[in-house]
Amino acid sequence: MKNKLILLCLGLLFISCKEVNEEQTKSKVEEVVSDVIPTYTSAKEALRYLSSDELEGRDTGSEGIDKAATFIENALKEFQIPPFFETYRDSFKLKELDGYNVVGIKKAETPSDLKPLVIGAHFDHIGHIDAVDNDSIANGANDNASGTVAVLELARFLSDKTLKRDVIFALFSAEERGLVGSRHLANKLKSAEVEPYLVFNIEMLGVQMKDKNYKTYITGYEISNLAEVFNGFYDEELMGYLPKANEFNLFKRSDNYPFFEVFNIPAHTICTFDFTNFDYYHHVKDEFEELEVDAYVELVDELKPGVLKLINSTEIQVKLN
Ligand SMILES: [Zn+2]
Repeated sequence: MKNKLILLCLGLLFISCKEVNEEQTKSKVEEVVSDVIPTYTSAKEALRYLSSDELEGRDTGSEGIDKAATFIENALKEFQIPPFFETYRDSFKLKELDGYNVVGIKKAETPSDLKPLVIGAHFDHIGHIDAVDNDSIANGANDNASGTVAVLELARFLSDKTLKRDVIFALFSAEERGLVGSRHLANKLKSAEVEPYLVFNIEMLGVQMKDKNYKTYITGYEISNLAEVFNGFYDEELMGYLPKANEFNLFKRSDNYPFFEVFNIPAHTICTFDFTNFDYYHHVKDEFEELEVDAYVELVDELKPGVLKLINSTEIQVKLN
């Protein structure tokens, strides 16, 4: 931060100097400006920012993930979604590293006994990895800037809706280090006696499935009736069953799982990565340019009314099978 201040002063000095080299001044000023966290304008731009090289792959404990967290906090603030705890950051220690989830809440219109619904996604990724063509940043555009932005889009959509139950927006950290952030939050909610109704976790929606008659799949499909209930809100199959998800045990491999373990409640991950449609899983080329952004935005928009119905259709219960 200090360096940036010095740069800014230098920039100003250049401007006030008569023999100013304009090119040089411009580059100094640009360097300062590029460090400013942008505000949330659209899903597309949020996806671009969160997966930019500036965030260096959002590894837990890094400067890059701190910028991502600030971006997310600012977006929630903008959507008038207040922090769930005293601050947005739900901190934990991971050996010597400081980790934090970012957690917000939108309250029900009137206080209710209905359990809260958790909408989640991990916003961390794996940082720097072995270089390919001199690029060592694993940008994590699909994994999981796409899920993170989907949660923010749902927060934006729900911000002016009347809700019958509380909705908790949870952006998890340290997923890539063993679901550490989500396990921390699940245990913390357990201690506070806050039991969720359902956990709707989002992963890798940035590239669409090509040869399926369903648009997304959920992990642990057979564990609850979520897909049946959710599809009932639509004229098409939004949530399908992907056999590969069971083969690779994906139910236990994302942030839904600690909630299932701790509370024994319906907790699933919704995803479109089907092992054939994206070659860059945990690869330096998991970048914004590799995503089908328009189709992604369309899909996220399509999920919004279904999620609102999940929250407000109190006569229909999602439950474990
Ligand atoms: Zn992931």
